[in-house]
Amino acid sequence: MVKSSVLGYPRIGENREWKKALEAFWAGKLEESELHTQLQEIRLNHLRKQQEKGIDIIPVNDFSYYDHVLDTAAMFGIVPKRFAYTGSVVPVSVYYGIARGTKDAAASEMTKWFNTNYHYIVPELNEAQPVLTENRPLQAYREAKEKLGIEGKPVIVGPLTFLKLSKGYKATETDAWLDRLLPLYVQLLQELESEGVQWVQIDEPILTTKLSGDDLQRLKTIYVTIAAKVPALNIMLQTYFESVDNYNDIVTLPVKGIGLDFVHGLSGNLSSIKALGFPQDKVLGAGVIDGRGIWRAALGEKLGLLEELAELVTAERLIVQSSCSLLHVPVSTDRETKLPSELKDALAFADEKLGELVLLSTAVSKGGSAIAGELKECDRALQVLKLSNARNRKDVQDAVALISTKQPERSKPFAERHTAQQKKWQLPLFPTTTIGSFPQSAEVRKSRQLWRKGEWSDEQYAAFIREQIDIWIKLQEETGLDVLVHGEFERTDMVEFFGEKLEGFAFTQNGWVQSYGSRCVKPPIIYGDVAYKDAMTVEETVYAQSKTTRPVKGMLTGPITILNWSFVREDITREQVAYQLAYGIRQEVEALEQAGIGMIQVDEPAVREGLPLKEEEHANYLSWAVKAFRISTCTVKDTTQIHTHMCYCEFHDMIDSIEAMDADVISIETSRSHGEMIHSFEENTYKLGIGLGVYDIHSPRVPAVEEMTDMIDRALHVLDPKLFWINPDCGLKTRGYEETISSLRNMVEATKLAREKY
Ligand code: GLN
Ligand code: ZN
Repeated sequence: MVKSSVLGYPRIGENREWKKALEAFWAGKLEESELHTQLQEIRLNHLRKQQEKGIDIIPVNDFSYYDHVLDTAAMFGIVPKRFAYTGSVVPVSVYYGIARGTKDAAASEMTKWFNTNYHYIVPELNEAQPVLTENRPLQAYREAKEKLGIEGKPVIVGPLTFLKLSKGYKATETDAWLDRLLPLYVQLLQELESEGVQWVQIDEPILTTKLSGDDLQRLKTIYVTIAAKVPALNIMLQTYFESVDNYNDIVTLPVKGIGLDFVHGLSGNLSSIKALGFPQDKVLGAGVIDGRGIWRAALGEKLGLLEELAELVTAERLIVQSSCSLLHVPVSTDRETKLPSELKDALAFADEKLGELVLLSTAVSKGGSAIAGELKECDRALQVLKLSNARNRKDVQDAVALISTKQPERSKPFAERHTAQQKKWQLPLFPTTTIGSFPQSAEVRKSRQLWRKGEWSDEQYAAFIREQIDIWIKLQEETGLDVLVHGEFERTDMVEFFGEKLEGFAFTQNGWVQSYGSRCVKPPIIYGDVAYKDAMTVEETVYAQSKTTRPVKGMLTGPITILNWSFVREDITREQVAYQLAYGIRQEVEALEQAGIGMIQVDEPAVREGLPLKEEEHANYLSWAVKAFRISTCTVKDTTQIHTHMCYCEFHDMIDSIEAMDADVISIETSRSHGEMIHSFEENTYKLGIGLGVYDIHSPRVPAVEEMTDMIDRALHVLDPKLFWINPDCGLKTRGYEETISSLRNMVEATKLAREKY
């Protein structure tokens, strides 16, 4: 019998019980012992589900109290000195301190887990003296066995991946660190071996990125050492998110199994196997069910792929797997009662994917006829969605095909637009503005709830929003800002707001996924052709403009950000979906312009997040991302000023693309990197309007005038004063009222000082 396996299961629980338990504990409303009890219950429930569905090899130690990378660091006693931790096992208070900060010590940095929207806590190796404080994989293994009779597969973050994702050491110290860590891994694995554990999954997703010769050498050292010290343990060396570059180096390592991603790395991995073969002494973990996507698998096609692999590898040496941990998808479609059936039937969240894995392993063992009914039902569901009206909007498809044949251009180059816009707007040197949102106070959120529940009429709610706009237009004028915004009070979220107003989107009731720690997001689903219905932002923007003689910037979310923060259909390319979104946004840009709005910002904070893992694919992605932005913004008059905004730092390798977007003004986050990104502009004379954020909006602290002056001076070393704008780093929606006003006053003060100097 061909076995099925999963690489990891979502932690958050069917009803986000996990999140609720963590937050109750942090708020002091749950005793620590109760936290352990509740989390154990959740964990066992997840194992039981996989057992009941019939998964053969069930992962353990994939569960976490926050993040699996932090778990690994904590297990090795790697705790930054500022947490004053001594002793052995890292207590829960210190563990959460590292993740979230304490009153005395700042949290560790958090960053994106490869190209997903999951964020891990970056281990800080400096100063630490690692030891194996406890064997968490072993504890998880014993728990599953004792409580449920499950022969679990402990999952651990591999040594190379752990080392590469950590910080706090110099490149020259890498081997010294490996020398410290490897014996701890060996000790851990030896304990698993003596316990009689059969399979261990060692996650090395770093193997899907470009590795240096030194790293390949380290990889070899690691797995040769492990094989020598723990010969009886079956190690599944697991990769995911892409194909592996160094196929030959990897499959010849002395491990029992190699796990490859045949969804996101399908063509690369399959051609490597075909060209180079697969070693006869190894098992292939065939990741055929997408662990990151929400769509039901085309079972017939997957079965075909598995049969092809069985020819190359032999069926006895196949394990049917998810392509990566199911951490990245929602728990179950069971609770979705409001989705159109054509969509719901075509979805598979974590629990449904368990079913698919079991079906496929049965089918490879016994032949497709063993699951004939299921194959038929699957075909039917996929066919219904394919033929649905939502996916066959000829009007949209034709318009988009026409627009995207050539590179969209504004009618004049930037230099000429700039002159025309200066003449029209008469803005002072260093115009000041904000990024769009103002504080979403409890009152704002409350009123939206009342309106959503039907307790407030549309008119009542609209009147409330107008009141907020009145207040903030006045405040912006009093503060002395030059370009104003309406404040985005009517929006919960910058993607959901537009998704609800465009066609082609669906919203789940319970489709949550973990983003970081207890924070979960519920991405919209782009399942049909995206179509513009009616004006989305004109009313509020025009109202705000009617209250002031200063220009009010319209505020939209860009196509690439909507794309990257949604679950996206896969029957057409992401590029095509981006163009459809762009075409929708373009119609709103035009509607705003027609309504007399002369400055329009199209936010693209998430462009960087969509960068493919493989460097050789960056250029192509960036080129269509830029094109999508230009489709959205290119049809306006010369005098209409297009703004954009980006955050999450690190743009050094994208400045050419940012320039190619051809926005008249861009505002970029700068302060969180302590102005480091200013260096990016040194060799690269950016030629369009630009505002580098002069203060960090992520903290309630009111920055002093001098700090902002300092940031401005540094920026003006490398940027043309005539093109320079002054603004905060990002939107102010999470900030309080007082601090927002004080900070903006200081910002205007710093601007006045700068104007005197230049
Ligand atoms: N206009 C948005 C705001 O001000 C931009 C948010 C973002 O960049 N993430 O909130
Ligand atoms: Zn931002």
